[in-house]
Amino acid sequence: MLTLDTELSHIKGINKRIIAGLAKMGIATVRGLLLHLPARYDDFSQASGIADLAIGQTATVRGHVRKISMRRTFRRNLTVIEAVIADHTGAIRAVWFNQPYLMNTLAVGTPGSFAGKVTYAQNGLCLSSPVYEPEEAEATHTGGLIPIYPETKGVTSRGIRYLVKPILQALGQIPDCIPAPVLKYAKLPDFTTALNAAHFPQSLEQAETGKKRIAFEDLFLLQMANLQTKMRLAQEPATPIPWTPAERDHLLAALPFTLTLSQRGALDELLMDIARPNPMNRLLQGDVGSGKTVVVAIAALLAAKHGFQTAILAPTEVLARQHYRTIARLFGAAIHDWHSSVALMTGHEARMFYGEDLETAVPKARAAERVKDGQLHIVIGTHAILEKSVSFHKLALIAVDEQHRFGVEQRATLGKKTSAASKAAHPLIPHFLSMSATPIPRTLSLTVFGDLELSTIDELPAGRLPIVTKIVPDASRTKAYDFIRAQVKQGRQAFVICPRIERASADTDEGIPAAKSHWDDVKAVEEEYDRLAKRVFSDLRVGMLHGKMKSAEKALIMKRFADGELDILVATSVIEVGVDVPNASIMAIEDADRFGLAQLYQFRGRVGRGEHQSACLLFTANRSTIARERLTALMTAKNGFELAERDLLLRGPGEFLGQHQTGLPDTMMGALKNIELVKAARAGALATLEEHGEKQSPLLAERLAKFKHSIHLE
Ligand code: ADP
Ligand code: MG
Repeated sequence: MLTLDTELSHIKGINKRIIAGLAKMGIATVRGLLLHLPARYDDFSQASGIADLAIGQTATVRGHVRKISMRRTFRRNLTVIEAVIADHTGAIRAVWFNQPYLMNTLAVGTPGSFAGKVTYAQNGLCLSSPVYEPEEAEATHTGGLIPIYPETKGVTSRGIRYLVKPILQALGQIPDCIPAPVLKYAKLPDFTTALNAAHFPQSLEQAETGKKRIAFEDLFLLQMANLQTKMRLAQEPATPIPWTPAERDHLLAALPFTLTLSQRGALDELLMDIARPNPMNRLLQGDVGSGKTVVVAIAALLAAKHGFQTAILAPTEVLARQHYRTIARLFGAAIHDWHSSVALMTGHEARMFYGEDLETAVPKARAAERVKDGQLHIVIGTHAILEKSVSFHKLALIAVDEQHRFGVEQRATLGKKTSAASKAAHPLIPHFLSMSATPIPRTLSLTVFGDLELSTIDELPAGRLPIVTKIVPDASRTKAYDFIRAQVKQGRQAFVICPRIERASADTDEGIPAAKSHWDDVKAVEEEYDRLAKRVFSDLRVGMLHGKMKSAEKALIMKRFADGELDILVATSVIEVGVDVPNASIMAIEDADRFGLAQLYQFRGRVGRGEHQSACLLFTANRSTIARERLTALMTAKNGFELAERDLLLRGPGEFLGQHQTGLPDTMMGALKNIELVKAARAGALATLEEHGEKQSPLLAERLAKFKHSIHLE
């Protein structure tokens, strides 16, 4: 029996070459074929009288073959079939290339429809390679809208149409995995109707609705998967952290500032969650400098007060060190009074802080021992180090910077490693907080991160001046450098960011683009550094920072910059996340058009953190309107979220987040742009789960399992 899962190669009578061609496009099953949707539709619905045809028109002609002949061209060795098609108004030539079999189909006198483009050749009008449909046949190809598919060698649109039509007919009514009430709610047709509409629509509108329903399925399954994860996790045991309002207020009072309203809101949500006996799963979003670290630190300290441990994971060592310092600087007294402790653990060093000396280095093994016996409460390190080499005594909270997903298994493993928990019957799953300065558009946070609760800090601490942002064309370069020099003379500091350079020609024979482009990164920065340090700013102190430097070297450069010993720091995008130097007031970005908007936004966030008026200079040699429009968006957008939405529309979510972060196939990404569809999918999934819980229909359960497997959710 023919089903969606039937392999095309098992269906009798399908041409082997088409099967091979489809396989090259990744299409092997009936489902794959049916989900290979038309890219567009040609409208051949109106039959025209031959006498009325005009050059350039795409038309359907009803008539009969009056004459037909085949010849071969010598130069290009093509077969050419020429025919004359006639109807009651006149006659027109038709030409086909390399379709010799048509000689058998189109004998003189054959009636039918011919649909194609009207061109002018050899003194007359001509139908060029028209699609032919016999008179009696059902109008697969020429009546109404004709689907045009993405093609490949050996697989033409016509070939696909010939396959799809009978397969759809043979399948009949295909069971739909989406519950009927959900489709009704979303105002979408069932799967069978949708497939027929997408492949052989009566109108473009119908085609769109069909395609929408097909996209909806992925969104729905994703929501189901995320919500299921969320519900399952909510039933796992976790350590409730019994903080008291008095303790919280003690910490708040120790701060040299008051939290912004939205910091306070996020803090309340976070603290509420960690007091519960089920694991928190929360994403804390907020612009760079909005004060996320402080919020997390308060939660960590409250946990420490009650003897629990927190791991704070940063993407880079520079950032880990910065978190360590921020927490020590802001909460030194409380850490001391509460006999708490903070540790910094990176690949290269370990430091411990008990409220007094910040920079005491200790052997890493000793720090690891203290973590294991529970004497170190707040452990700050890079993602990698904590996953690998450290086990905890009572790990209750994990906070991760700029890494949205942290598998439940990873958490359970870290949690299990704790000696206290291993004695308990159930391993406790630590509470989890993901922090992100990448503003995530709403559609994405609703879908891709649909298993996470969301907290948002959407205001900056008072007193920050808006950053003046300017596009600098090459002609104004000197002026911009003068401006930077003048700022430095007033005591300010500047970043200069260089993008990756891709040298297409030299790269190819090496075959390892990733390694190569890293190298090019370094080279770009080194060249720019040379130029600035030796020529443009030879009178100033210029430093360099890139990802290939040893981490001790990086730390030293960052420290020198932070301490004001360098005026200008030339860097790659390593500077992107984190880094807090309030005295830096200029962010200059070379070839700014090569970065994504969200990334540029992150760079800009590096400045404007102190009391000084800051500026962001976007150097670009690209004069295209699109480049200019994108950069202008950076100047006009009210906040990161607005930019993120624009970036999403311009570049698509895959580019936006990077495939590794979403784990979703590109084909699904398009649907994520449609907020209404996303909302409907979420509502539908919620209702389905509320009604049926874990007992979904067998078909839905099966599809869901396959889907999860395909996006590596499980
Ligand atoms: P994020 O992690 O969101 O980028 P941080 O937590 O590192 O931001 O905070 C950036 C800077 O702002 C830090 O120096 C921090 O001490 C300071 N800060 C945080 N919250 C406030 C506030 N409410 N008022 C004033 N300064 C604040
Ligand atoms: Mg931060």
